[in-house]
Amino acid sequence: MSGSESRAQAVFQITNSEPMSVKKPKSLDKTWATDVFTLVKMEEALSKNAFKAVKKTVETGGALDAGTADIVAAAMKDWAMSKGANYFSHIFYPMTGASAEKHDGFIISDSTGKAITEFTGSLLIKGEPDGSSFPNGSIRVTNAARGYTAWDPTSPAYIMQTDNGATLCIPCIFISWSGESLDKKVPLLRSNSAMNDAAQKVLKLMGEQKVTTLNSSCGAEQEYFLIDSNFANLRPDLLLAGRTLFGAAPAKGQEFDDHYFGAIPPRVQVYMQDVENQLYRLGIPAKTRHNEVAPGQFEIAPYYEAANVAADHQQLLMTVLKNTAKKHGFVCLMHEKPFAGINGSGKHVNWSVGNSTQGNLLDPGTTPHSNLNFLLFCGAVIRGVNKFGPLLRAVIATAGNDHRLGANEAPPAILSVYLGSQIEGIFDQIKAGKLDNADEGGLMDMGLSQIMPFAKDAGDRNRTSPFAFTGNRFEFRAVGSDQSVTGPLIAMNTMLADSLNWISGELEIELKSNSDTTAATIAVLKKLMNENGQAVFGGDGYSSEWHKEAVERGLKNLPTTADALPYLRDAAVKELFSSTGVLSPIELESRYEVYSEQYILTIEVEAKLVINMTKTSIYPAATRYLTDLAMASTAASEMGVEIDNSIAAGVAENINGMMTAVKKLEDALAKDGYKSEEEHMQFCANTIRSLMDETRGHVDALEGVVADDLWPLPTYQEMLYIK
Ligand code: ADP
Ligand code: MG
Repeated sequence: MSGSESRAQAVFQITNSEPMSVKKPKSLDKTWATDVFTLVKMEEALSKNAFKAVKKTVETGGALDAGTADIVAAAMKDWAMSKGANYFSHIFYPMTGASAEKHDGFIISDSTGKAITEFTGSLLIKGEPDGSSFPNGSIRVTNAARGYTAWDPTSPAYIMQTDNGATLCIPCIFISWSGESLDKKVPLLRSNSAMNDAAQKVLKLMGEQKVTTLNSSCGAEQEYFLIDSNFANLRPDLLLAGRTLFGAAPAKGQEFDDHYFGAIPPRVQVYMQDVENQLYRLGIPAKTRHNEVAPGQFEIAPYYEAANVAADHQQLLMTVLKNTAKKHGFVCLMHEKPFAGINGSGKHVNWSVGNSTQGNLLDPGTTPHSNLNFLLFCGAVIRGVNKFGPLLRAVIATAGNDHRLGANEAPPAILSVYLGSQIEGIFDQIKAGKLDNADEGGLMDMGLSQIMPFAKDAGDRNRTSPFAFTGNRFEFRAVGSDQSVTGPLIAMNTMLADSLNWISGELEIELKSNSDTTAATIAVLKKLMNENGQAVFGGDGYSSEWHKEAVERGLKNLPTTADALPYLRDAAVKELFSSTGVLSPIELESRYEVYSEQYILTIEVEAKLVINMTKTSIYPAATRYLTDLAMASTAASEMGVEIDNSIAAGVAENINGMMTAVKKLEDALAKDGYKSEEEHMQFCANTIRSLMDETRGHVDALEGVVADDLWPLPTYQEMLYIK
């Protein structure tokens, strides 16, 4: 099959396939967490003492003894086998951002050769995957490759059901023989505990008598595209790079805003219900679903949970979205920019910190101006964004997200913080040294008798801000859709810990000379705002004026990953992570190495695809068309009719331009001998990317003129609009 024959076949398949039958969703009480080894199930299965010990660990992060681990392991195995699982797997989260699993059977044979099952505490606590192939920076050389996985009792074990059987999955950390973190979970757990230590100090100074362990919370909104797999399978770029490297804009894109919050297409709704049903079984509280701005784009958002659990659940949610899409004949694209010219996908990470005694410390309540704890924690975030903006940019830096940030659809690559008019007003007053009453939201009364008046928020929203206060939490909006939420959570918790440490130091000094807590707090916050207030910005983050002003304020604009990642090596960032105990200098350096390597590899794979697809698909189609035009022109002349050859000339020009760009790209890819990763990244960000764009310019121009029946790739129009 050539050209549009395969495309036509795909359209035929899609329009003639039977839609999956709509299964009525089961009632929640029948599905909720049925595949999770929850505390409730543990309470039923464990002795009173063992359960008490586990519960304490889950709630406070305290240690668990070996005897209890044995008891939990036995109960876990019985439960898992009753659900049909013969295998268990430690699940861990290497620096690639993916989830990793290694399955082992419960089976062993006894001395008589009989098969029995065994799962001891030591198997639960520790695994030793031969994980030497995971990227680990320079922490492990292959001849010293031992790595361990170790059970994290604070994230519940669950059963992964597939058509081929069930597996007991145990969330774990992943560390080297020398005890360094090789994963994303260890630093997240450490960042939580650093934040807790620092918060305890501040709250005690504020006169709080009882302060239980603080934890961070996360609710992540996941955007994604669904494309029929008949089309995706015809696009090597979608299969290997997750995004289209070519594709002319269709006549209609998203300009009518008619997809956003529109009626969900029936086939997609069936898919969503299937996903949600699986998520509910896994104890993941999927709560919101809707069409997103771009055609073919959707969103799912679970209700927020403790950050460590939310992060594991987020990984699982991405797996379920992708696997279920296959079942429904879709490909689920989580790339940050699968299609040029229409919106890309992000993952808004909503984050707050709190505990059972003080509640959510980012909740201003009804009188924020007198809520000193809130003002201190909110101030701590402002200081964090100001001091560590480049770090926040670095933790969302990927080859994919670079396409999205700074485009006119997503936050700019400058990190600032939006507070909303009410809270911004309060901090302005603090800066000016006086604190009066705050603006209140008031009532929304439309004057329509049938519409009940409702309480209005005290501040509007700002979707152009990368980091926005949204009422009782901060929303980090610049995170990429394909990313693990862990990096951003670690950065936020750690910068908060650092700021709270600074605050407690300052408070202590103030309180010595000033016994009035309110006056002392305001004095500390005034100093904080004088030093860090420049990070607060409530205007239009997309505007070019802001880009200029931000730089004048001393904020960094870091458009590419190549610009942002080197900040992981910044002295202040190193000090931040080592002083809080979240990442040692070696662990931090290994992250820089892994992420920069991934960036380079991603762009190189894309460049190779550009070369390959141009030579094997686009060039043949365009020259075939040129031959057709030439034959038509000759035949017409023979008849004494002259036809305008400008189309043919344009095709020839683009073919030549395209092949010249491809040759330059090949030469650029062959270059080596870079002095540093930094230089190599810059070369990818600038030279390779712009040669890819140059090639694409010609290819997309050809798509606009070459006869449709010769064009080899499914078009944007087909992929985005045919379901
Ligand atoms: P929107 O699109 O309006 O920002 P959504 O309802 O789509 O809001 O998603 C908001 C996310 O924020 C949800 O996951 C929600 O559970 C989460 N969230 C709400 N309150 C908090 C909080 N205090 N801390 C962390 N996340 C929160
Ligand atoms: Mg949101």
